[in-house]
Amino acid sequence: MEKIFKHKADSEVLISQLMLPNNSNFSGKIHGGFILSLMDQIAFACASKHSGNYCVTASVNTVDFLSPIEVGELVTLKASINYVGSSSMEVGIRVDSENIRTGERKHCNSSYFIMVAKDEFGHTTKIPGIVLESDDDIRRFLKSVKRQEQKSAKKNQMSEINFHSQEYLDQLKDYNVKIL
Ligand code: GDP
Repeated sequence: MEKIFKHKADSEVLISQLMLPNNSNFSGKIHGGFILSLMDQIAFACASKHSGNYCVTASVNTVDFLSPIEVGELVTLKASINYVGSSSMEVGIRVDSENIRTGERKHCNSSYFIMVAKDEFGHTTKIPGIVLESDDDIRRFLKSVKRQEQKSAKKNQMSEINFHSQEYLDQLKDYNVKIL
């Protein structure tokens, strides 16, 4: 069967949403959890469009909230496929917000979601390849490969550690903890 390759533009998704008071905490800043939920939705939409199947979130790369979002700002989330494997893909998301009155924009966070395609029976299923058209596409694909390698290296490294050894217990002495 001939392999299918899709263009990134076919699955790119953009969401713009005005931040309402019911999504804020007591000091008028938008809850991080609300932004995370928008990010999960856009990752799902982007991955599902690319794969032609519904997808599930397998993992989320660190989300650092770079600057707080205020009530009344217009938040824009942009998502595109950075990497595809045989059934999993990485969706990159960039979140920016804009002050409506001043037009000032700020970068709020960027994150990378690994999504897996499922067929109608809930089984993991194959996805199309991706066409890399620009230097940015190539950079993002290779950065995704690196992120995944670093993640599995870290996982293996941690699995070999005996956290009960005196050496590791000693490392905790400067932290705000008490060991019973
Ligand atoms: P980068 O990953 O180093 O390029 O960091 P950025 O913060 O610029 O972007 C994070 C991710 O958001 C990227 O990896 C892309 O997947 C996605 N992204 C960034 N800019 C755009 C855009 O203009 N449109 C779309 N659809 N996605 C974007």
